[in-house]
Amino acid sequence: MQYSIVGFPRIGINRELKWVTEKYFRHEIDARALVNETSALRAGQWKIQQAAGNAFIPSNDYSLYDGMLDTAFMLDAVPERYKDLHADDTGTYFAMARGYQGRFGDVRAFAMKKWFNTNYHYIVPELDDDMQVRLRSDAFLDGFRQAARLGIETKPVIIGPFTFLKLARCTGSKTATDFADDILHAYGSILEACNTNGVRWLQVDEPFLAMDLTDDDVAFFNRLYSQLLTGKGHVKVLLQTYFGDVRDCYRDICALPFDGIGLDFIEGKQTAGLIAEHGFPADKVLFAGLINGKNIWRSNYADVLKTLRQLKAINPQVVLSTSCSLLHVPYTVRNETKLSDDIRRHFAFAYEKLDELREICRLADLPDYTGDPAFTANQALHQGTLRTDADVRARTASLTDDDFHRAVPRKERQALQHRLLRLPPLPTTTIGSFPQTAAVKNNRARFRRGEISEAEYRANAKAFIKDCIELQEKIGLDVLVHGEFERNDMVEFFGENLTGYVFTDHAWVQSYGTRGLKPPIIFGDIKRGKSITTDYIAYANSLTDKDVKGMLTGPVTILNWSFPREDIPAEEMMNQIGLAIRDEVMELEKAGIRIIQIDEAALREKLPLRRADWHKDYLDFAIKAFRLCAAKVKPETQIHTHMCYSEFEDIIPEIDAMDADVITFEASRSKLAILDALEANHFETETGPGVYDIHSPRVPDTAEIETAIKAMLEHIPQQKLWINPDCGLKTRGMPETIASLNHLVEATRHIRASLT
Ligand code: GLN
Ligand code: ZN
Repeated sequence: MQYSIVGFPRIGINRELKWVTEKYFRHEIDARALVNETSALRAGQWKIQQAAGNAFIPSNDYSLYDGMLDTAFMLDAVPERYKDLHADDTGTYFAMARGYQGRFGDVRAFAMKKWFNTNYHYIVPELDDDMQVRLRSDAFLDGFRQAARLGIETKPVIIGPFTFLKLARCTGSKTATDFADDILHAYGSILEACNTNGVRWLQVDEPFLAMDLTDDDVAFFNRLYSQLLTGKGHVKVLLQTYFGDVRDCYRDICALPFDGIGLDFIEGKQTAGLIAEHGFPADKVLFAGLINGKNIWRSNYADVLKTLRQLKAINPQVVLSTSCSLLHVPYTVRNETKLSDDIRRHFAFAYEKLDELREICRLADLPDYTGDPAFTANQALHQGTLRTDADVRARTASLTDDDFHRAVPRKERQALQHRLLRLPPLPTTTIGSFPQTAAVKNNRARFRRGEISEAEYRANAKAFIKDCIELQEKIGLDVLVHGEFERNDMVEFFGENLTGYVFTDHAWVQSYGTRGLKPPIIFGDIKRGKSITTDYIAYANSLTDKDVKGMLTGPVTILNWSFPREDIPAEEMMNQIGLAIRDEVMELEKAGIRIIQIDEAALREKLPLRRADWHKDYLDFAIKAFRLCAAKVKPETQIHTHMCYSEFEDIIPEIDAMDADVITFEASRSKLAILDALEANHFETETGPGVYDIHSPRVPDTAEIETAIKAMLEHIPQQKLWINPDCGLKTRGMPETIASLNHLVEATRHIRASLT
């Protein structure tokens, strides 16, 4: 039995890619040095894989910034505005990635989007009408050649033409299919180059096949590959799919002359069923993605070995593989020296996954593996009780329908709240955080380093709160916030205060380009051990006659931005977190907080890729988990929520069913389309679509905000409209924040004066 991986992390075990690229950005090294250092980095990674016995070591899975951007560059899909800079290749490439402002011009970067259902962001290529797509160079083989010189055979990896065209943005009147002939020609040249250079296997990634496909999509895919694979020469082509199953085109891909097909058995719920029903062609190698490429837990060897045996009975040519690229997991558990062995042995990051793959191959070749020590040790790992908390389980098990429902219907609650809170029409507020100034960050850093005591740290945080309340009163906002100065990140902060979470020191995962994330890990059952925010928020509330809105992160977002467990269902985890947040909500209410916001910034982004899965696999229990947090408050306590994207036109009834009293969300001008949809769906929740964009330092003027409010009033009744920026202000500077909020309040006052 042999194994393969779809791809390896790129950033380097100590984030070398980040440090060297940033040096290049600061002009401390030139493009040549950048290339040299990054080739050393990848050579090191191949050697590790070689030592671990990987039979299909990938090359060209690395990138200086992003794989989609590399593909655009390889295909010469470089818009004129970047060519006009007359920079060298590396300069042009990074101008597309990050924009360029300087002597040679001023161009904005390409857009960035989430890569399917991951937290990785890709660069969205642009296809202009006059663009001539062609293979610009065979640089995609640089790695293959470099590795060959080291005596290591690799499998070059490229993003396939179908996924590339489906994700690229056509800027003119042409559509993706109009580029098909040029693309086919370019990919034909890729196959040719592979043949000339002696490539044995080429991996072509087509993750878009895991999406819902129309008949036209499938026809287009067939057209592309039936032409491309005709006369492909000696090179073997592996069609690699991931992030789900390929139910809409399984029989099509089996019928095409691919030499190998890579399927995802982890997220692909129908993968095994498709093979059982339709078989698997005898003339192809099946790359069975049985090791989770996205999560960090040790695999269950018994399950993997059982599936391998079943697959081998159908087709002896099976190669064990990962479900997707290991790009989405950190490098190694070995560096997490602060974690106890009891905890650490449950984790498999990229290096440990190589060990698992090798070990499972060895076991699969044994006549009987059940007595093998590696096998028995693995089974023991999956039977422990270390991660279970009986109290927490008893609490989630005893939840009843009442736990998910507020007793009084929303309309009555809203009337009560209006009488009690006595807010003016079009109440003004913010989303929660205020600028994280150097002083604010310094306070946290010094506390973390042990330079100041907890008492000093908290006293400093309270001083920031006091200033923040004074500032908001001076600006004239109606509902105030404490400013979130105690938080590094809206999920990490809660994770650190909940039992059951584990934190790593070096477990970075690429988010985009040079940016990494270190997601916290849900290790055991979650509970709130102690009060988290009440002290700060009650303090803020004591400083003013206005209402201070309590600020919490909701269970769906906390789960979506963590590494989740695999031994219990997502619904159970969400309910556990929901109950912990509920404890905090009840405590805030008791402390006199009359408005509480539970942020669900990440609710939309983890919607399953396939529509058929939206409800049963996600929305049904995600919406309930949110309701769980707020179900027990008094009817007069006003519950807010906030979401970062307004791209929820498709799930408006579900958002309304969260049963919040107020929702605020991102709706910069282009996205005001959401307002039509809210109106059409008779949205009941009071609404604050952001009146200006906080993702840029630009200060909106009063007239501009007035125009936005007027547009909103055409769709949202005045009794239901809130006025706020579109997200938290923590990444902004103080001067622009003050100016923008002053304009927001002034614009609101003008409009109020004209209301009847
Ligand atoms: N309350 C958070 C803040 O203001 C919300 C952040 C977010 O939506 N991403 O920072
Ligand atoms: Zn937001």
